[in-house]
Amino acid sequence: MSDASSQERFETKAIHTGLNWREQTGAVIPPVFLTSTFEYGNAGGFDYTRSGNPNFRNLQEVLASLEGCAHACVFASGVSAITAIVSTLKYGDVVVLEENVYGCTYRLFARVFEKFGIKACYFDLTNTANYAKITELKPALVWIESPTNPLLKVLDIAAISEVAKSVNAPVVVDNTFASSYLQRPVELGATLSLLSTTKYSNGHSDALGGAVCTNSDEWQEKMIFAQKALGLQPSPFDTWLTTRGIKTEAIRMERHNANALALAERLENKPGIRWVRYPFLASHPQHELAKKQMRGGSGLITADLGLSLEQTMAFMEKSRYFTKAESLGGIESLICHPATMTHASVPREVRESVGITDGVVRFSVGIEHVEDLWTDIEAAMGD
Ligand SMILES: *Cc1c(COP(=O)(O)O)cnc(C)c1O
Repeated sequence: MSDASSQERFETKAIHTGLNWREQTGAVIPPVFLTSTFEYGNAGGFDYTRSGNPNFRNLQEVLASLEGCAHACVFASGVSAITAIVSTLKYGDVVVLEENVYGCTYRLFARVFEKFGIKACYFDLTNTANYAKITELKPALVWIESPTNPLLKVLDIAAISEVAKSVNAPVVVDNTFASSYLQRPVELGATLSLLSTTKYSNGHSDALGGAVCTNSDEWQEKMIFAQKALGLQPSPFDTWLTTRGIKTEAIRMERHNANALALAERLENKPGIRWVRYPFLASHPQHELAKKQMRGGSGLITADLGLSLEQTMAFMEKSRYFTKAESLGGIESLICHPATMTHASVPREVRESVGITDGVVRFSVGIEHVEDLWTDIEAAMGD
């Protein structure tokens, strides 16, 4: 690598990192390698697509470069990436998790891995008093998300990693909500940064994918093993789409940040709204920390509209640009009702105890024109 390339910035790396196929064909963009198997003894070291493919390798190189770490391993989905990490644990292991963890992560531990003797313990890890649970329990993994879904709590990745290090507990950060552009967990001290590339990395809501990024050779080996041994590999076409999407991640994230911040500020000043949560609003409980560890607030806003369940549903139906759908991180705006959608598998008591009541909605703010989005929200609220 020349000096110039080692100093490349995110925007340039996103476009220029990866395999170069120009020498053989002149193609500016690499092809999709739709092949299940490879001739024995090839120069690339490929054997079978379940255990590697040029499109996977390309995306892995880009993701590692953007997350500022040595390795990345790609999977079929974010949930496959979670499964890969948890599959490295053994009977009797304890995992300490942030209590407001992604619904599918909660379900995977509760409904699948508990049967294999893996114990998940949940704590509010925005409360530093609970850091002691990590040193007490000496878990096999510490599992956090920041910002969290859907309450957008911001956790101190550097501080938690420091505490976990004292008991040799690897830290996993689900970096999906922040994106690689806005936050780099491994640089902050985490062992693993997990992405559902379905969201901001790809950014166009047309492919599923997941990734685990790390500086640890040992962890990378475990992830590559899980990819092939558990059959968690993505498709070459999906990784190709994600590699294409990621090229515009920086410019998309800048627009997501700007649109979401503007809408969050206006919502907060709107009479009748109970509360608005957005990491880059001064009213956010961890605003200072958010500004320290993220370079923008990202595109998600969670708000309690102060409406009944029926009124909330009517608001969502009336909105023209915010499509009622699960998922986030695409160029188009979406709206979701956590209590009946993403968190429907979380028991009501657990859900409500962490603040996910019936009037709460989560906006995934897209990159449309902000004034059109605001007009739409106002109209749906009946103004
Ligand atoms: C979507 C999501 C996942 C799961 O990813 P899939 O690609 O849908 O399997 C995991 N964590 C977070 C925070 C997510 O938003």
